[in-house]
Amino acid sequence: MITIKNLTVEVEGKKILKDINLEIKEGEKVVLFGPNGCGKSTLFRVIMGMNDYNIVKGDILVNGKSILKKTIDQRVKLGIGYIAQKGVSIKGVKLEDLMEQYDFEYDDVKKDIKGLDIERFLDRDINYNLSGGETKRLELFTLSLLKDIDTYLLDELDSGVDLENIDRISSYLQKMSKKKALVITTHTGAILKELKMDVAYVMLNGEIVCKGDPIEIWGCIKKEGYEKCVNCDRRKK
Ligand code: ADP
Ligand code: MG
Repeated sequence: MITIKNLTVEVEGKKILKDINLEIKEGEKVVLFGPNGCGKSTLFRVIMGMNDYNIVKGDILVNGKSILKKTIDQRVKLGIGYIAQKGVSIKGVKLEDLMEQYDFEYDDVKKDIKGLDIERFLDRDINYNLSGGETKRLELFTLSLLKDIDTYLLDELDSGVDLENIDRISSYLQKMSKKKALVITTHTGAILKELKMDVAYVMLNGEIVCKGDPIEIWGCIKKEGYEKCVNCDRRKK
């Protein structure tokens, strides 16, 4: 379980996250909504321990223990897996070589590779010259190989992914996240059609302003826009 307590984060003297309180329970499926620049990716990056964000207040706990002093790889070992909004290409490294090095049997994951339609990317440099959607599929598969992850943080997994591949990603994610906690952000909402989420939060200007049913909140955002969220009655609850 990840607990975020009163988390306030600054970059270059500017507050980007303001007093965030959030609990991600075991196996819970959480979606974070919010307009561009509201701080969703920053929240993920701070949870992972990336960059020199200045945590001016608050804490991030995994199963009750603070992880603020932990490195990125220690956080992964504690069970947090992450796919960034923008994939990183790694020239000279191929996923099939990594799989071989870490003793993954191709036959064990053949079905997954077919299901995500990523076979032809395995012998190419990781994410090199892949489209946005292809990168997401490859990264999702790579993350699913790590069996000790129990919370997935997936930033805009459906961005740049066409409809056919949204189906592929959704059904794969459904399968791989059974019994695992999942936190996603989505811009288009496309992934919500297939993937059942338990709870949604809305972020505005670095604050969490709303919590509720994902489909209901998304319907409201689509109809009324994020501006409406600022004055919504739910906020006062
Ligand atoms: P979202 O993912 O919700 O679109 P981000 O978390 O990427 O938003 O960004 C939130 C705000 O913080 C934006 O205004 C962005 O420009 C700013 N920001 C994020 N990281 C940095 C950084 N390392 N340096 C300066 N500004 C940053
Ligand atoms: Mg983002």
